[in-house]
Amino acid sequence: MKSTVLAVVLCTAFCSVLLPIDRAQARPTPRLIVQITVDALRGDFPQRFDRVLGDGGFRYLMDQGIVYTDAHYQHANTETIVGHVSLATGSVPAAHGMVANVWFDRELGRLMYNIEDARYHLLTAGGDVDRKTEIDPTQKAARVDGRSPAAILSSTFSDELAVHFAGQSKIFAVSVKDRGAVSLAGHAGKAFWFSKSSGEFVTSSYYYQQYPEWVNDWNARKPALAYAGKSWALMHPPSQYLFAKADDREYETDFPGFGRTFPHAYGAPDDKYFTTRLTLGPAGDALILDFAKTLLDKEQLGQDAVPDYLAISFSSTDYVGHLFGASSLESEDNLAQLDRTLADLFAYVDKKVGLANTLIVLSADHGQPEVPGHLHELGIEDAHYFDTKALDKTPAIAALKKQFGTGGELVEAFFQPYVYLNRDLIRDKGLDQADVEKAVAAELEKFDGVSTAVSSTALRTASLPDTLLMRSILRNFHPKRSGDVYVIFEPNVFINDFDGLTVASTHGSPWRYDTYVPVMFAGAGLRPRAVSRPVTPYDIAPTLAARLGVKPPSGSIGTPLTEVLGD
Ligand SMILES: [Zn+2]
Repeated sequence: MKSTVLAVVLCTAFCSVLLPIDRAQARPTPRLIVQITVDALRGDFPQRFDRVLGDGGFRYLMDQGIVYTDAHYQHANTETIVGHVSLATGSVPAAHGMVANVWFDRELGRLMYNIEDARYHLLTAGGDVDRKTEIDPTQKAARVDGRSPAAILSSTFSDELAVHFAGQSKIFAVSVKDRGAVSLAGHAGKAFWFSKSSGEFVTSSYYYQQYPEWVNDWNARKPALAYAGKSWALMHPPSQYLFAKADDREYETDFPGFGRTFPHAYGAPDDKYFTTRLTLGPAGDALILDFAKTLLDKEQLGQDAVPDYLAISFSSTDYVGHLFGASSLESEDNLAQLDRTLADLFAYVDKKVGLANTLIVLSADHGQPEVPGHLHELGIEDAHYFDTKALDKTPAIAALKKQFGTGGELVEAFFQPYVYLNRDLIRDKGLDQADVEKAVAAELEKFDGVSTAVSSTALRTASLPDTLLMRSILRNFHPKRSGDVYVIFEPNVFINDFDGLTVASTHGSPWRYDTYVPVMFAGAGLRPRAVSRPVTPYDIAPTLAARLGVKPPSGSIGTPLTEVLGD
């Protein structure tokens, strides 16, 4: 009798929570997980550019999937490696350790690129970053050609999948960007990325001693050369676009040979920027699609009961945003072309594995800001680029030197978003680290355009106001990697100097335009639904884990999304 009463009481309390999970466990396990990351796809983009979308791509996800309309990152530094690893691990930089694309390694005494690793060289001779033509300043920070996930301190969903199924799951990640692939492959999977130097997909000795035959075959086919002498042209008649009349804007980047207006020429294959230009438009994503389809076929993904995992990170949206801005004809057409790329991918997955057997999730590593020039056109004046050179020109440094009685340089390095202080000098002079950090932060906050500068000592001692901004900086704080002062610019203020190349926009802030991303699940028997409840991209990895009955990644802070688990 008592137990019946207890059961009734328990059921009243918990059954509404338990039932969906029971139903989920009764559903067949997907044979394939496809995790798509669109680099810099701000949360509003798919809806905003709906007029240029077709069937089977984004509309498949939006009409037949579960769409979370209010998904935001909660860490401060919305950069590419940070977002990708957060998606992979379901966690924040404080736990997974990827605090920035580049950080100052105090043991090496130099800046370090997030996934560089001298122990694991590239398998392709001449595939290393070409410093003369590389336009990504973070890539240029790497001092070795080797790459590995060793610096990722938490396990990834893909790692947990490997552990759970005793290494029988096939796990792959591909991207134009090395960090877009290495992040999601985790420690147990295999990563391939596009080398602009060789025009081929490459990997490192962390993953393979030699390439699988199909990769050699794919590279030997030289698919990049198919774009020789061709151009990126509009996919639709101009009148279909929201930004039809806004192709040429003086704030857009006039990249050599590529220009500010359609059609954008890729140029001749012997032109030093040929492969770079491919990555600055839809061609980069099309190459990834081609490689990913070949991988899916040759590695026989999704062909047996043990679930496999394929992560694809499409990078073009990010480069197009940097060069032309979020509100440009280029961004609009790039999304239209990405939509066709997705439709092609989904049709191929359906043919090879079946969408009913495949769980698809799409999100982004960060959002995008608007270009100040575009905001000015609309009468929004309070937007500008921050002149980093002004940091050296002002009396701030001199004032600090005078205050602390030192002739040496107190600041070791500044690399977005951290200022790194010269700790040796501070120690030798008998100064207090906390005092110097506080003084440097105070000087930084005097600059026009700087919103907040926060000292790491303050973060360690938690003597900070409990605001969303402070929490986001704290979630970004790792004691061994974070710098000494975190600098946040005002909304719509950012650095646009890409190591000499002036770009239209730069993401990386904790403001909502940079934290806002789509989260969409589809396939595997999911029923369509739009969910307005606030969620985070950290929820994705634990959701995938829960759906497969796998334990969550080691640092996961996300909450499994009930709509994906049950209904
Ligand atoms: Zn990115």
